[in-house]
Amino acid sequence: MADLASIGEFGLIDLIGDGIFAAEKIIKGIGDDCAVLPFDETHYQLISCDMLNDGIHFLYDKISPYQLGYKAVAASLSDIAAMGGTPSNLLLSIGLTQEGTIGWWQEFYRGVSDICRRYRVNIAGGDTTKSNGGLCINVTVLGLVKKTELRLRSHACVGDRLFVTGPLGGSRAGLELLLRPEIHVADEAVLLQQHLQPEPCCQEIRWLNQAAGDALHGLNDISDGLASECWEIAAASGVGIVIEAEAVPFLSETAALAKVCGNKVIDWALFGGEDYQLVGTIAAAQAEAIALQYQRQSGKPLHWIGQVIAGNGVFLQQNADKTPIKAKGYAHF
Ligand code: ADP
Ligand code: MG
Repeated sequence: MADLASIGEFGLIDLIGDGIFAAEKIIKGIGDDCAVLPFDETHYQLISCDMLNDGIHFLYDKISPYQLGYKAVAASLSDIAAMGGTPSNLLLSIGLTQEGTIGWWQEFYRGVSDICRRYRVNIAGGDTTKSNGGLCINVTVLGLVKKTELRLRSHACVGDRLFVTGPLGGSRAGLELLLRPEIHVADEAVLLQQHLQPEPCCQEIRWLNQAAGDALHGLNDISDGLASECWEIAAASGVGIVIEAEAVPFLSETAALAKVCGNKVIDWALFGGEDYQLVGTIAAAQAEAIALQYQRQSGKPLHWIGQVIAGNGVFLQQNADKTPIKAKGYAHF
């Protein structure tokens, strides 16, 4: 009997099979950032869950309870944004260990409440159990998307341009600082913030929808690293993607830390994960006009980082070299 490592996280998910026993109750099941369900004439309902485990997704001693609460919700809201939608309500489940005083949990809920208030999401319920492993947090989030604004990973078209909404690799840099306290660069706070308390792109997706309309095609949020997210878009859309290394945006602090650590900063963007920016594809003919309008509304640039090509696979263009890149992001086993 082969062990799980031989099939990987996605092989395990495939073991479920089709899972659809009442097709009229679902529009899109497994295979995107959220499941898409019927709602009304003009909207679909979105639903997604995300689990955070101590020692794997966070380090209890290195994140404050406020940040942990904020981050657990941010990861889920990001999946709603990645579908083009707006979050509405969530359920919060906790597997409790011995850790955590009343004060610790008050701070945790303050983090949860602050991000929920900010994005107008209700805490509608959840579940509390004892865990004999580590502390475990699960957030299930619901949202709505206009039918015309639903964005799937499978919507990318050959000829599209590839964009990201902001600098990458910052979360990986923040993690490096946590794991290697002997290392220092200027302005560490900004990197630690990116890792410990990321912001989901709930507002950015509204600006994008307004600026791009139908020209916004494939979309994903960067939870597992740019390489893995581009692979998901490429595979779902039956296309290839070229990422231009020189065009990928970084904070100067991230680049400085990568240098100090002897790492390539591009690797932190490709394989680091948890940046929670959006990556997507836009019809080339409208790209410049859309970027202009996006910048006018948001005050921030859309970063063009590559193209969608015929074929399959994901490639990194560096000067004259075009090398295939693997899907490895953060894989759980
Ligand atoms: P994301 O990185 O956006 O959170 P995942 O990579 O976790 O998405 O999941 C990919 C797809 O597989 C999603 O559609 C998700 O709902 C589905 N999925 C993940 N784990 C399971 C599971 N244990 N059972 C059923 N579906 C799953
Ligand atoms: Mg996602």
